[in-house]
Amino acid sequence: MQHFPVFLDLQARPVLVLGTGEVAERKADLLRQAGAEIRFAAAFEEALLDGCALAIGADAPEAELQALATACRARGIPVNVVDRPALCTALMPAIIDRAPVTIAVSSGGAAPVLARMIRQKIEALLPPGLGRVAALAERFKSAVRARLPDLAARRRFLDAALGGLPADLAIAGREVEADTAFVAALDSAETRPRGMVHLVGAGPGAADLLTLRALRLLGEADVIVHDRLGTEAVLEMARRDAERIFVGKARANHCMKQEDINALLVRLAREGKRVVRLKGGDPLVFGRGGEEAEALAAAGIPCEVVPGVTAALACAAGAGIPLTHRDAARAVTFVTGHRRDGGIDVRGLVQPGQTLAIYMGISTLAPLRDGLIAEGMPPSMPAAVVERGGTPQQRVLRGTLDSIAAEAPAWVTGGPALLLVGEAVARGGARGWLAAA
Ligand code: SAH
Repeated sequence: MQHFPVFLDLQARPVLVLGTGEVAERKADLLRQAGAEIRFAAAFEEALLDGCALAIGADAPEAELQALATACRARGIPVNVVDRPALCTALMPAIIDRAPVTIAVSSGGAAPVLARMIRQKIEALLPPGLGRVAALAERFKSAVRARLPDLAARRRFLDAALGGLPADLAIAGREVEADTAFVAALDSAETRPRGMVHLVGAGPGAADLLTLRALRLLGEADVIVHDRLGTEAVLEMARRDAERIFVGKARANHCMKQEDINALLVRLAREGKRVVRLKGGDPLVFGRGGEEAEALAAAGIPCEVVPGVTAALACAAGAGIPLTHRDAARAVTFVTGHRRDGGIDVRGLVQPGQTLAIYMGISTLAPLRDGLIAEGMPPSMPAAVVERGGTPQQRVLRGTLDSIAAEAPAWVTGGPALLLVGEAVARGGARGWLAAA
């Protein structure tokens, strides 16, 4: 972060505007909307800065602007000189005003046009009456605190009320009804919320492959229990002040035993927390989501599973490989390259017209190849390895069962990787259909 955003209280505070042209007038108008008292000047004098909360330079001779910037720096007064980033200690953002809600967008001076485009997008997303929702919350702030002293209970109530009927009524300008609905909701709010665990699929690691439901739950969670590194982009989407607990499983380096993770989830839920158990891909595909759900059920904790894009789907889409194809594959099998005892098991896996999506198979590539060939698969069967599939760092290695087994161990760079095997893997040409793009 190059600049830190803050919101200044300029009510009745002097702001120096150096310059007399149209740009200076526009800045002054904006600052007056925030209650500032504008001190206009055509030429700079040190004394003009006395008591100022902020200074703006526009349409003034170079020497005056330089003097302004130097004096402001010396006095610690934030200064913005229009179109002169080198002279600024403060940037003017593009503003979305839904007072008391204010949103400021800045490109750090790199591309003001981009900031304005982003502003327009946000403007379109937010109803004009949004400020009335904040005002509604403000009116009842102390009533809510009194009725719900528990922070988690309060947060849950406000999440529901400010995203539900009272807010809709306020946005529509029906403020009396909004108040009535808010009071009714507050009266029936739970003072000690029951905890719950959501087993949420994070997808392959790209934030925009999350489901909308996962996104909502990440925004509402009190605690996020996550395992894989590489899901940083997804965790970015979570509520900033949610507690994060890493229980990571880097292969052969188990940070926490499964039983301990189960016990942790139960304990957090019993504390009344809304827990998101975030898992790569889909929670129920080689993710032990089933074991966690069983442990929660046994403890009487409500649990919901939110599906995610599993690696096979993300890798196939990303690499341009059809998992099924009317001419090449009528079945797809998700299979692990590892058995619980560390061995591998390929019995029954070689069937005509089938694509194999082999999870956790990279460290056992040679025995997998030998096993599949012993089961009758030709060594020339098309195959591919996709590393970090579905993310911007995705890499794809194409070849045959034989060549992949030989080349992949040196080719992988340590990210999660999936092996795809079958006639359909060669469809779309040597580089998949994306080659045309
Ligand atoms: N629940 C996860 C799978 C967990 S098992 C899912 O549904 O995707 C871990 C294995 O998944 C890894 O060894 C790798 O084979 C595969 N995997 C997970 N994410 C991947 C990705 N982005 N690209 C390629 N393979 C991935």
